[in-house]
Amino acid sequence: MINGSDQFLLYLLLHLLGVFAFVNGTSSEDDLMKKTMESFSGYPNEPSTPSFLSVDVETLQVQIDELSSFSDTPAPSVTRILYTDKDVLARNYVKQIMTNSGLSVREDAVGNIFGRWQGYEAGLAPVSTGSHIDAIPYSGKYDGVVGVLGALEAINILKRSGFEPNRSIEVILFTSEEPTRFGIGCLGSRLLSGSEKLASTLMNTVDAHNISFLDAAKSAGYDMDSKQDISSVFLKKGTYSAFLELHIEQGPLLESEGVSIGIVTAIAAPASINVGFEGNGGHAGAVLMPNRNDAGLAAAELALEFEKHVLQSGSIDTVGTVGIMELHPGAINSIPSKSHLEIDTRDIDEERRNKVIEKLHESAIKIAQRRQVKLSEFKIVNQDPPALSEVSIISAMENAAMVSNLSYKFMISRAYHDSLFMSRVCPMAMIFIPCYKGYSHKPEEYASRDDMANGVKVLAITLAKLSRE
Ligand SMILES: [Zn+2]
Repeated sequence: MINGSDQFLLYLLLHLLGVFAFVNGTSSEDDLMKKTMESFSGYPNEPSTPSFLSVDVETLQVQIDELSSFSDTPAPSVTRILYTDKDVLARNYVKQIMTNSGLSVREDAVGNIFGRWQGYEAGLAPVSTGSHIDAIPYSGKYDGVVGVLGALEAINILKRSGFEPNRSIEVILFTSEEPTRFGIGCLGSRLLSGSEKLASTLMNTVDAHNISFLDAAKSAGYDMDSKQDISSVFLKKGTYSAFLELHIEQGPLLESEGVSIGIVTAIAAPASINVGFEGNGGHAGAVLMPNRNDAGLAAAELALEFEKHVLQSGSIDTVGTVGIMELHPGAINSIPSKSHLEIDTRDIDEERRNKVIEKLHESAIKIAQRRQVKLSEFKIVNQDPPALSEVSIISAMENAAMVSNLSYKFMISRAYHDSLFMSRVCPMAMIFIPCYKGYSHKPEEYASRDDMANGVKVLAITLAKLSRE
């Protein structure tokens, strides 16, 4: 909730920005005059729109709790996997809230859901916002959900305040942000961004139970037969004037620093690389050291070299992890004849990240030569480009935080989000709110009502501003 003087400041500022046109009561000029008089007279403000920009966070919390009950594991954990019965129920629940908010609802072929608040200039590209509601096994109820239900509440508070958008405002629920079922993260937004490669891949993709993507989609009510059906999802550039995503931070910084709002200036993107070495192996006692070509030591040396390349990038934003290192045959008395590494590196600067990958490749070749092993695999599995937020949206968010009297800081999203892919079709930025100890993807995930209300308010003011530009 915001207090009376904050309300007045907001009101005044948004009027000056020309953002708001109120429909109830007297003309906006008269309203402004009345409030100015009231404010100077020292009487408490009694705005003609009493709920002006006050977030109904109680209802938001009830909705978050209700949505979390569509889960395949018991509370407080949430498990909601793409195209399962619980996913379908959760989708219906969100569509119902969209309808109740007076939005027109449509779904695309893969089940991205769009709720539109029609602006009065139908020809202009809408402003969009949204997130996901799928949840990995035994996770929490806030990841993604705050960005969907919170966005709907942002629209509700603008409606309650009497605001009318110039551009339409659309809330998007993205299909399968989590890679749980088919191993593909941000499936819905990746397709919206026009990924031909993904459209082809999905024709032959199966889950761990050998159920095809197409059959799973059909069982959830999304009937696709061809690559054309899947590509019908692609958005043209310019479909939206902007995309914003409200999300819990999933890290500890905002909470530990006592800051209310994180304005995301860039989203780091991961690249993953698989590397394999092969040597002769042999008996741990019989083969003397000069005669060995140990695939395990080649892997170990590469891991350390990789760390050096990451540290030497010149930026704290470059990170690298060797998350998997397997040795074959894996016996104490056997020299490893094969090794397999899976390596993740991320950065907000694509060139810098790709340089790390290049150096990794050079090191792998050199190590293989020196150790007389074969570099049997060097495969870049994926290499998504990072994304920078749009400066004009960042400053709209900054203004929104300032007029709401909220502390804020600029930050980088080190996890990736649907926003990363939306940035390929339109200007993008994200709003982070604190979450308890930075926990995410586990049942302890939690965001306080105050923090959610703050995020929703900043989102609402930013949407209002962008819908008038
Ligand atoms: Zn998420």
